Amino acid sequence: MSSAIINGKEIGGEIRKSVEQRVKALKKIGVTPGLAVILVGENPASKTYVANKQASCEAIGVYSALIKLPEDISEPALLEQIRELNNRKDIHGILVQLPLPNHISEEAVIATISPEKDVDGFSPISVGKMMLGQETYLPCTPYGVMKLLEHTGIDVAGKHAVIVGRSHIVGKPMGQLLLQKDATVTYTHSKTKDLASFTKQADILIAAVGRPKFITADYIKEGAVVIDVGINRDENNKLVGDVDFASVDGIASHITPVPGGVGPMTITMLLENTVQAAEKTVKSDNKQLI
Ligand code: NDP
Repeated sequence: MSSAIINGKEIGGEIRKSVEQRVKALKKIGVTPGLAVILVGENPASKTYVANKQASCEAIGVYSALIKLPEDISEPALLEQIRELNNRKDIHGILVQLPLPNHISEEAVIATISPEKDVDGFSPISVGKMMLGQETYLPCTPYGVMKLLEHTGIDVAGKHAVIVGRSHIVGKPMGQLLLQKDATVTYTHSKTKDLASFTKQADILIAAVGRPKFITADYIKEGAVVIDVGINRDENNKLVGDVDFASVDGIASHITPVPGGVGPMTITMLLENTVQAAEKTVKSDNKQLI
């Protein structure tokens, strides 16, 4: 029997509908949620990601301001742009598309974004709050994975979640969010010895490696829930995940496809965070949503 598909396009679509309703409610009281997206240079992949984010904003009525900056912009000039956006009333969320050119410190850039507008959830303050379980903007990809699990009715409490990958934007926060929901979490990475001995114990396996079709049937326990975060191109330039779908299908109880699994959830949660940021300004201005 085939594994059940966790359809991110469908679940993301449902969430977007409810976010759109919140946008409408904000507009009724004269507030249009605004997201500023900073794009430095001409990286084609970054341009595509930014265009997708803008189109998704526009589709639900969120104002999106694209700030295109030249590859050779200095770090101080970029930081100044961010400070200006921090002060703009019409901008509720700020996103800097990564990677940045080598002469610019990503750390300095992210730390300059006001925590109130850090809708990517990457700043040290947002990360610290997330670690402490305090209210903050959660990083969009792991937040989206949590929503996929929730909407599929998969209770993670008491389950063994094994994460392959420990990046700041996916692996590490993913483990924290699962831990907060009472999963038992194991992190694995490139220095892990005998990776399969860990992944085969997973009730929930999260693959965030960045290697096409890396996770095969040999890494999976019968009945595991497999979440494939990877977005890679194979030798035929086809979009594939970190999981070898065909090999795992039928062994896993549930699996996310690529494309159409985690990918659509990332942008959905970015919209959610941006609208939440706008709602917070309404509360702090003592306005009332109708
Ligand atoms: P990174 O390259 O930052 O991290 C990859 C992680 O995988 C590292 O922690 C690395 O370990 C680990 N790793 C590499 N090789 C192995 C190995 N042989 N065995 C075990 N672990 C290994 O990638 P990201 O976290 O940014 O992204 C991961 C994937 O998810 C990519 O395909 C990316 O495109 C995709 N992605 C998808 C998103 C979406 O919206 N669906 C959003 C963001 C990313 P170490 O730390 O030791 O180097």
